[in-house]
Amino acid sequence: MPSSSRRTFAIISHPDAGKTTLTEKLLYFGGAIHLAGEVKARGANRRARSDWMKIEQQRGISVTSSVMTFEREGVTFNLLDTPGHEDFSEDTYRTLTAVDSAVMVIDAARGIEAQTRKLFEVCRLRSVPIITFVNKVDREGRSPFELLDEIADVLALDVSPMSWPVGLGSDFQGVLDLATGRLSRPEGDSRTFQGKVEDAPALPENIAEEIELAQAGYAEFDVDAYRNGDLTPVYFGSALKDFGPAELIDALARHAPPPRPQPAEPAPIAPDNAEVTGFVFKVQANMDPQHRDRIAFMRLCSGTFKRGMKLTPTGHGKPIAVHSPILFFAQNREVADEAFPGDIIGIPNHGTLRVGDTLSERADVRFTGLPNFAPEILRRVALKDPTKTKQLRKALDDMAEEGVTQVFYPEIGSNWIIGVVGQLQLEVLLSRLEAEYKVDAGLEPAPFDTARWVSAEDAADLKAFTDLNRSAMARDRDGNPVFLAKTAWEVGYVADRYPKVKFAATRER
Ligand code: GDP
Repeated sequence: MPSSSRRTFAIISHPDAGKTTLTEKLLYFGGAIHLAGEVKARGANRRARSDWMKIEQQRGISVTSSVMTFEREGVTFNLLDTPGHEDFSEDTYRTLTAVDSAVMVIDAARGIEAQTRKLFEVCRLRSVPIITFVNKVDREGRSPFELLDEIADVLALDVSPMSWPVGLGSDFQGVLDLATGRLSRPEGDSRTFQGKVEDAPALPENIAEEIELAQAGYAEFDVDAYRNGDLTPVYFGSALKDFGPAELIDALARHAPPPRPQPAEPAPIAPDNAEVTGFVFKVQANMDPQHRDRIAFMRLCSGTFKRGMKLTPTGHGKPIAVHSPILFFAQNREVADEAFPGDIIGIPNHGTLRVGDTLSERADVRFTGLPNFAPEILRRVALKDPTKTKQLRKALDDMAEEGVTQVFYPEIGSNWIIGVVGQLQLEVLLSRLEAEYKVDAGLEPAPFDTARWVSAEDAADLKAFTDLNRSAMARDRDGNPVFLAKTAWEVGYVADRYPKVKFAATRER
């Protein structure tokens, strides 16, 4: 069954924890690339092709998520890249709605960091199961107990150590597999893992004691608890020195869930449903500056997709014949003939497809739960040439559709407000306004700090609230009412005063 052999996952981490290194190694051990070290280099080349992506290049980071596919022992892995830099976007969050599981990378010296935590919260929203990889055990780090306890406390998860580092930093003598008792040893000047494994190693006394304590003190691995998102298996290793990546691939193959039924209206869609269905979780513009095409990234949820098939976006538009879908094989885009549930296909289009769209053969289902996230940075858009108002509105609407930025039209006044979750998106917005829409605009501080979508069971309650707070009310791209708050504190204050109004930090599309 092709869909049961799919593992569609993402890596979540804080910048510098080692996500790029681990990605390279997973692709390498998965046989997708021949030389580790190619991801960043090739990535930079590829990005250089696109004008506005120069920003990414200058900063050496990636705004846009990509998809990497590799196969091992009959299992197809789809790794969806989530930009890990401080300046990330909604794409990062939304990518997590298209995966069935995630690998969380933690730096052994730093433990859980801010970005990891945010991304983890998004995983929790959808009960995405998590495998934890504590990286850089070849360096000085915190004690494994301290790290395990921190994961358990901060994320409120059961932890189950699967391996154990024998010494850290200069004492590092390898990683012990707790299930088999086998020890992987470092070799050579580089102190990397090159295949040297001891079956019944003599362990230093303190380490033997630690392991005994750990096995008695933490939960035993339970695949159901993991798949429910209640427990995380924890692997210790070093991506750089090749301790762990192969074990992670095995763990994903053995334990990570294959595609699951996806929440949808009128009823959830199971992967074995014969009809082809999927949803768009990301739209990328301008991959090739010669063409104004966009690529919609669709996660296939059911059926067997075949090239040339007609798919209809639910709720708007005519059927689209998908003649040149794109499948992603590590760095090389290949034209897909067939794809299965869990796979991602890129669909070239001229702006008809939007983030959150459901595509299907009969247009009678709609996937739910693809959220918008409350922006963390709000700015007022200042137009330099007032005759360009129309172009500006079109540009802001387009980019809101792509999920690059959010736009809010205040009830009072004409100062449009844009919202992003990462600083870099502001630069992307300005350079695209100029390059693609020929609109010269600036961004000014907005008198607001955050936004919440508001709703109420009883329309009268919502009206009472909006009437009294008109100066803080706006509409999003789709006309939904949004409350703009001066501070996060104000959100709490107002929410207390209006218990019948719901203030949501995410909105399902
Ligand atoms: P990202 O920002 O999460 O993608 O992190 P990178 O993969 O770029 O790694 C950040 C830095 O940590 C780089 O200098 C890596 O070489 C280094 N690094 C990654 N993994 C390890 C590891 O296991 N051990 C050591 N010592 N360094 C590592």
